[in-house]
Amino acid sequence: MIDLRSDTVTKPTAEMRKAAYEAEVGDDVYQEDPTVRELEQTAADMLGKEAALFVTSGTQGNQIAVLTHTRKGDEIIVEQDSHIFNYEGAAISAFAGVQPRTIKGDRGAMDPREVESAIQEDDVHNPETGLICIENTHNRAGGAVIPLDNMAAIHHVASANHIPVHLDGARLFNAAVALGQPVKDIAQYTDTVQFCLSKGLGAPVGSIIAGSEEFIKQARKWRKRLGGGLRQVGIIAAPGLVALRTMVDRLAIDHEHAKFLAEGLGNTKGIEVVNQIDTNIILVDVSERGLTSSQFVALLKEHGVLVSTFGPKLVRFVTHYDVNKESIGDALRIVSKL
Ligand SMILES: *Cc1c(COP(=O)(O)O)cnc(C)c1O
Repeated sequence: MIDLRSDTVTKPTAEMRKAAYEAEVGDDVYQEDPTVRELEQTAADMLGKEAALFVTSGTQGNQIAVLTHTRKGDEIIVEQDSHIFNYEGAAISAFAGVQPRTIKGDRGAMDPREVESAIQEDDVHNPETGLICIENTHNRAGGAVIPLDNMAAIHHVASANHIPVHLDGARLFNAAVALGQPVKDIAQYTDTVQFCLSKGLGAPVGSIIAGSEEFIKQARKWRKRLGGGLRQVGIIAAPGLVALRTMVDRLAIDHEHAKFLAEGLGNTKGIEVVNQIDTNIILVDVSERGLTSSQFVALLKEHGVLVSTFGPKLVRFVTHYDVNKESIGDALRIVSKL
């Protein structure tokens, strides 16, 4: 099987498995796990933030951020196609008790003027705007990189209104590699950040959230409340450190592979690539083939290629560490033969 469903399917490298085996550990709820502390410090330094916290998943990290930044009855501004709004089981409402105010972005980027006008006025009728969220890279926009000037402009509007900004950077390192800039150049425009170790970076488990010392102190408490306080968790933090040390620069290869795959798919009859390929995600419209996305996905599966549906017409292909150029060539041959 050539698995192009997601970069979450990557398996830990040999070096990660060795690091897990050899990790020095302690009880992390007592903050005594040296490997977790090293991972958190390394991540905070890379992001240019005061502190960081290792969490179980990207979803947990985003939710802890929302819980920490907001109060029940607040409103938060999110992009209409964002992960936080679409793919987290309405957790912002279920847990934090906030309501979303959505803005339709252009390739995932919200217009700063629209953000500004969505901020609630101080009035007895209105919810208070408690948080603004940005997603970079943007998943539903096909791995689109949110431009830094857009982030800077939103950050400016937010600060002028004393509203914090959270970055859902599940694929932040893909954005950084595509821009050719360190992650801190992106993270500087947000108060807090979440990124996944377990997607393109290849670690088996975990995400990082980062922000001020005070934010992380409160976030640690929310993580505990949610049952995310883990004990000798250096076992899984160690592969995360290996991910940050060895797997960042090579994301450029996934991006090249995505361009190669998109070009081949675009040259296939009845398949239209609908996104600009900034990073490692390709979205194709298969309706010209007279197939729904589910039928297309099932057909490819029968022939040894796994991809995922992205709505009734769209199919998503994601390149990652566990698919090399040869397998992508094979996948293209299979698609073109069908
Ligand atoms: C995958 C993803 C998440 C959630 O990460 P999990 O570790 O799967 O919970 C959040 N935001 C975006 C943009 C994602 O792509």
